[in-house]
Amino acid sequence: DATVRRIAAGEVVERPASVVKELVENSLDAAASRVTVAVEGGGVDGVRVRDDGVGMTAADLERAVEEHTTSKISGGADLEAVGTLGFRGEALHTIGAVSRLTIRSRPRSGGRGHELVVEGGAAGEVEPSGCPPGTVVEVEDLFYNTPARRKFLKTEATEFDHVNRVVTQYALANPDVAATLEHDGREVFSTAGSGDLESTMLAVYGRDVASAMVEVDADPEAGPITSVSGLVSHPETTRAGREYLSTFVNGRYVTAGTLREAVLDAYGDQLAPDRYPFAVLFAEVSPDAVDVNVHPRKMEVRFDAEDAVGDAVTTAVREALLDAGL
Ligand code: ADP
Ligand code: MG
Repeated sequence: DATVRRIAAGEVVERPASVVKELVENSLDAAASRVTVAVEGGGVDGVRVRDDGVGMTAADLERAVEEHTTSKISGGADLEAVGTLGFRGEALHTIGAVSRLTIRSRPRSGGRGHELVVEGGAAGEVEPSGCPPGTVVEVEDLFYNTPARRKFLKTEATEFDHVNRVVTQYALANPDVAATLEHDGREVFSTAGSGDLESTMLAVYGRDVASAMVEVDADPEAGPITSVSGLVSHPETTRAGREYLSTFVNGRYVTAGTLREAVLDAYGDQLAPDRYPFAVLFAEVSPDAVDVNVHPRKMEVRFDAEDAVGDAVTTAVREALLDAGL
């Protein structure tokens, strides 16, 4: 019933950033080349994600907000599939249960645009709408009908911090997608979608950081890691938080203590206490050597051979720093 549904929704949609994550993933799944995320009041007052992806027909729209519906075929629980497996076709449905959700979409392949509003779990009628090809999803009044959940939200600044982190990760992981983040009508960053990691980094973190990066590019011969690539910062270009240390496994953003520690180890005692370097590191790992914790809110991975993985990453980063004379 509606109450059970709201509680379940609260379990998976924790805060505005979780909404943003799901909507951005949908845009990327829809093969968008441009994704614009605009939030108001840290995302608590509103979240809007616009893309130029494949779009949806009227029938697609109706199906998209139903329970357990996904147009995505997900086979085994391999790492590539986990992002969509997180909700198993539940994201739009659950978001619609705890907010006022408006979706406008028009198929890129032609045809008219349509609009659908879901309020507190009740879907309205699909109506014609004059919208450009692609999809716009708007989420307002998040948790208006789940006061307990709403009470757990932090300040606007903190909620925006989480949103910013999510959009930053996806922008860095997808340099070929033009990603824009706006907060209260002001642009926070905008990437060009050129496919180039360095210019993406520049757009996201600014010139001071981007100019202090060293390229990592290693292909370990043995062990579960076949490639480590990306950018890491000079030892003196650091921040107090570890959120600037972004790791991806087989293209997907993950949190993995092993990878973080391995990067820090490469710097040895060059880092000041409680300071963390900037890093965007992509590790390619044979899928059967990775364990994924498929909790929808986290992307936590473990490796069968933690030590071997850690050593490979430390070696790759240390070599890059040494090559740069650091
Ligand atoms: P899932 O992503 O797991 O399939 P969602 O609830 O997130 O579940 O989305 C349901 C369906 O709605 C998707 O399978 C897709 O067909 C459609 N959809 C959602 N967002 C978009 C989008 N931005 N562009 C095109 N189709 C979308
Ligand atoms: Mg989804």
